[in-house]
Amino acid sequence: MTTQTPTAPAAERKDLETTKKMRTVMGDYFMELENGPTEGKKTAWCTSVGPAELLRALGFNVYFPENHGAMLGASRMATDVIPLANARGFSPDICSYLTSDIGAYLKNDTPLKKLGMSGMPKADVLVFNTNQCRDVKDWFQFYAREWNVPCIGIHTPRSLGDLDSPIIEDVACQTEALVPTLEKVAGQKLDPQRLKEIVHLSRQCSDLWKGVLETAAAVPTPITFFDGTIQMGPAVVLRGTQSAIDYYQALLAELQQRVADGIGAVPGEKFRIYWEGMPVWGKLRDLASQFLNLNTAVVASTYCNSWIFDALDPDDPFRSMARAYCNLFICRSEDAKEKYLEQMAAKYQIDGIIYHDCKTCPNNSNNRYQMPERLDAKLGIPHLVIHGDLNDLRLYSEEQARTNIQAFMEGLAQ
Ligand code: SF4
Repeated sequence: MTTQTPTAPAAERKDLETTKKMRTVMGDYFMELENGPTEGKKTAWCTSVGPAELLRALGFNVYFPENHGAMLGASRMATDVIPLANARGFSPDICSYLTSDIGAYLKNDTPLKKLGMSGMPKADVLVFNTNQCRDVKDWFQFYAREWNVPCIGIHTPRSLGDLDSPIIEDVACQTEALVPTLEKVAGQKLDPQRLKEIVHLSRQCSDLWKGVLETAAAVPTPITFFDGTIQMGPAVVLRGTQSAIDYYQALLAELQQRVADGIGAVPGEKFRIYWEGMPVWGKLRDLASQFLNLNTAVVASTYCNSWIFDALDPDDPFRSMARAYCNLFICRSEDAKEKYLEQMAAKYQIDGIIYHDCKTCPNNSNNRYQMPERLDAKLGIPHLVIHGDLNDLRLYSEEQARTNIQAFMEGLAQ
């Protein structure tokens, strides 16, 4: 079998106008981080679904190392720097965001330099939430030891079924317990009104981001998963700010216009696929182009939807943050995940599901405990498992993935 036989020449595709504003929005964010220390602002590192609202309310500049991990993956620097972290005792089998980020730190090299930063911003405090995995805590503790700064966090239970009150109370209490240390580092008291305002801004950002992703329910879809991995930047690093809201208002308006005009992200869309699991950051462009050539739109994903926080409520900041962050797909039970995927398949009119079995992120690989087989039986939707990794391209066989995708789509066509 050949490795790649596109069914048609690359279809023409119009870029989204709003994306041009992304460079400014993200550029301003990184400049704020760079200039923070000279302007007397403190920097807090935060895990992607950590208590960012609390940190912003206390005046911190908030930096998300997982975003840096994704940049290392997308720029393909990751594969070069991971061995440096391995040589310092971090196993090649653990999270390759962690190993590529620490490898980049050890090499003093980062794609952030191309954005005008002098390097990774040094943390005054590191704040984690283990709702996604244990790796984030170990990752942050490395830097806490390096810089002799506090590393504090929330230990969220995992494999959650119903989000009942005792769990939410526990996580809310843990979040509140962070306040004294954070106030000490920030040099200011938490203003409850400011926290409400930030939670409100965060909720608005989340609602708009949800609106953006839901435009993909239209046939043809105006946006794909691959677009989503770029468009999600402000939802990840700027939630709780007005600039994220402004960006998504413009993007949503453009996408709604595309839906009204019947303009698809994949011209001649024939099939609609759901992507389950982590992106393969260093191969997104190649995968996007393969699917485009196959007239296939990857319309939805668990990954991009993970930054929708419906539960955020400015009138009950701590409890609602706890609820929002416990509702994260990755920390839910198999039953809850299965129910969610069933709803997504119906909502987005999915023809097939692709599971990325991500070698260094078992936490976000949902094919390992019979989920695909159960959903196949329930929904009658076929699936494909791709073996790879989020950042370590040594663990991804491009040839095999391309061949399998090609064969899978040919099967769907029949
Ligand atoms: S969820 Fe996976 S990719 Fe994200 S930090 Fe944890 S191990 Fe790494």
